[in-house]
Amino acid sequence: QPIDVVRLTKSVVEGIVESISQSQNVLFLSRKESFVANVDEFLLTTILTNLLSNATKYSKDNEEVRLKLEFDNKNIVFKIIDKGIGIPEVEQKNLFKSFYRASNVGKVSGTGLGLAIVKDFIDIHKGSIDFISREDEGTTFTVIIPII
Ligand code: ATP
Ligand code: MG
Repeated sequence: QPIDVVRLTKSVVEGIVESISQSQNVLFLSRKESFVANVDEFLLTTILTNLLSNATKYSKDNEEVRLKLEFDNKNIVFKIIDKGIGIPEVEQKNLFKSFYRASNVGKVSGTGLGLAIVKDFIDIHKGSIDFISREDEGTTFTVIIPII
């Protein structure tokens, strides 16, 4: 069923901001005020919540997280950008495996399931997910969801 992707994304960001430290900031960037598409609301909410939760929990309070929403003729493109701990290069290939957690997470808790679920949900939408990461510099996840 058609939903407003901009509005949904904005409300997920607001939900995350409420759940994190007051000194941490999540910036939402979109050129469009509204964009209606046939995407599953629950799937998209789960995908964005997991990626934003990771971006904030693997960053410090003063390191801003950004979510950029873009559209082209065929796709909705989300970029979740953080300047946090990053993922060691040799471990990056394991990231979407269930229960996998990188060696640099320290005391930050988690089950290692979030990204495995995200990957499944993106596959259901026939989309794609990719990331670029450098340890101690940050990570950018790119999610592409085809518009149907
Ligand atoms: P949860 O199941 O509660 O989400 P989790 O966050 O540990 O637990 P995933 O979301 O699947 O599990 O992420 C897997 C691992 O990938 C994390 O433990 C962490 O090592 C790494 N990771 C994911 N996102 C980031 C990020 N934005 N920055 C740095 N490391 C990340
Ligand atoms: Mg997670």
